[in-house]
Amino acid sequence: MLQFKFVEFIPEKIEKGVLYISTTFCTAIHKCVCGCGNEVVTPLSPTDWELTFDGKSVSLYPSIGNWSFECESHYFITKNRIEWSNKWSKEQVLRGRNYSIKLKEEFSENQVVEKVIVHKEISKNEKGFNLKSIALFFRRFFKTKRRHH
Ligand SMILES: [Zn+2]
Repeated sequence: MLQFKFVEFIPEKIEKGVLYISTTFCTAIHKCVCGCGNEVVTPLSPTDWELTFDGKSVSLYPSIGNWSFECESHYFITKNRIEWSNKWSKEQVLRGRNYSIKLKEEFSENQVVEKVIVHKEISKNEKGFNLKSIALFFRRFFKTKRRHH
């Protein structure tokens, strides 16, 4: 069983068997549950780990694969419980890594699309938008001008 603590800052001394969760910094940290003592940092974001808190227990998704440690342990944290998983081969690790890179790329692309859509709607609905874009244009204009000198 893993305990959990919601903290603002990650403490310097990480206790064994405790998952520290900082919502301020969107990060969780714990010592590898195999006992090797390595600290495992899991950033919380739509493309990293997802933390679920049901009021009594926490879960992290996806699994935690400590391929960079000697132990190469692989486990899930589900409702405070450690569920051991099988070790991955090098190929699987690589595939997992590529998948996570792809996920991040797709996610940032989607965000760009969203921003463009929002941008368009603002330009339709708000008169202030024009002023903003003019200001932006001037800022850019002066920046490029200054570079020439
Ligand atoms: Zn370990």
